[in-house]
Amino acid sequence: MARIVMKFGGTSMAGTERIRRVAGIVKRQQEAGHAVAVVVSAMAGETDRLVNFCREANALYDPAEYDVVVASGEQVTSGLLALTLQAMGCKARSWLGWQVPIRTDDAHAKARIEDIDADALLASMASGEIAVIPGFQGVSPEGRVTTLGRGGSDTSAVAVAAAVKADRCDIYTDVDGVYTTDPRIVAKARKLPLVTYEEMLELASVGSKVLQTRSVSLAMKEGVRVQVLSSFIDESAPPADDLPGTMIVSDDELEGSDMERQLITGIAADKNEAKVTLTRVPDRPGAVASIFAPLAEANINVDMIIQNVAKEKGETDVTFTVPQADLARALAMLEERKEAIGFFRLISDDHVTKISVVGVGMRSHAGVASTMFKTLADRGINIQAISTSEIKVSVLINADETELAVRVLHTAYGLDAAA
Ligand code: ADP
Ligand code: ASP
Ligand code: MG
Repeated sequence: MARIVMKFGGTSMAGTERIRRVAGIVKRQQEAGHAVAVVVSAMAGETDRLVNFCREANALYDPAEYDVVVASGEQVTSGLLALTLQAMGCKARSWLGWQVPIRTDDAHAKARIEDIDADALLASMASGEIAVIPGFQGVSPEGRVTTLGRGGSDTSAVAVAAAVKADRCDIYTDVDGVYTTDPRIVAKARKLPLVTYEEMLELASVGSKVLQTRSVSLAMKEGVRVQVLSSFIDESAPPADDLPGTMIVSDDELEGSDMERQLITGIAADKNEAKVTLTRVPDRPGAVASIFAPLAEANINVDMIIQNVAKEKGETDVTFTVPQADLARALAMLEERKEAIGFFRLISDDHVTKISVVGVGMRSHAGVASTMFKTLADRGINIQAISTSEIKVSVLINADETELAVRVLHTAYGLDAAA
């Protein structure tokens, strides 16, 4: 008998019919002889709706009260799934974040899980009861409701899997695995049977929203076996135990498989960045530090950075990207420090996309970046900034060219599925 944690995303939980299908999948997993816990998201669109209510009630909302409101979406679906399972003759009960408890820090709206007390859950699972846990929520040291940041139910599922020492954490969603790129954008995207933790971490952090980035780093740290698979299946579909989806594996496991690997594993697009340029910054030690220190203090993540020689001697232009959500704050802070930094103009552009190609094969092969630059140049797509890591190359381009860029790169790296 294995212990399995199953997570169902918002699209899978959207409405009574879909919850019934989910309950069927859970019941089959239990009938296969496993002890199961289920983590659920709110119905698709529900969290957005709740966030809007908070904005309407008070634009400068208190994050602790925001958490009370937005955590309710998952409370509803966990109760509904428990009811549906009971209607099918299964023993099931819901466990809210504070009941488990799932202890987090007090960073409301973006809390981190610190510890999960798994005793009660384990006892429930061992007795043949299906434990249904709302994703996304926890409880702070002060006993208040917290949430884990958007997409956080993936992290809840992995954390529960680590806490109960699950044999596998199955993340059920509306696609049947991790693809070479978003299959909703590129029809020729190919499903990957295996992806390494590191690759998935890079893909998630550069915009593949199929898994929340934190869920992947947690899985990697705790050694949780994660599978991404579809909940839109019928009874004739192969069972999850046959691993029909994408398995996230360690480098060793990947090398052990004799699968043919492409140099590039996947391509992601992120439209949530904005570009900021400061012109004619004095070219002297400390100038760049005076730009980035206040941004770091304000917790604004700077990603890509370039510094150009300006026309004037002794001056440079500095360009970088920040999350779009932080752009207004970043601009206000820089404008305030105009004298101290000594720049001439502050220019921003939020109509940009960061395109990234990711693959562990890059470690041992040269030429990945030059293929990227040439492919984009051949299509007349201008590159505005570049950044790299050991297994990733990212470029910033005009947002209008996003789909074209992803498609031509997908073809250039040989990722297209056979017609
Ligand atoms: P859930 O509601 O189940 O959490 P999400 O919408 O968060 O689902 O994530 C699933 C979506 O991720 C898919 O519908 C797909 O459009 C998108 N996606 C982006 N990149 C990829 C990729 N490389 N492989 C698979 N899906 C991807
Ligand atoms: N419902 C939350 C969100 O939409 C958490 C999740 O679904 O993962 O962000
Ligand atoms: Mg999600």
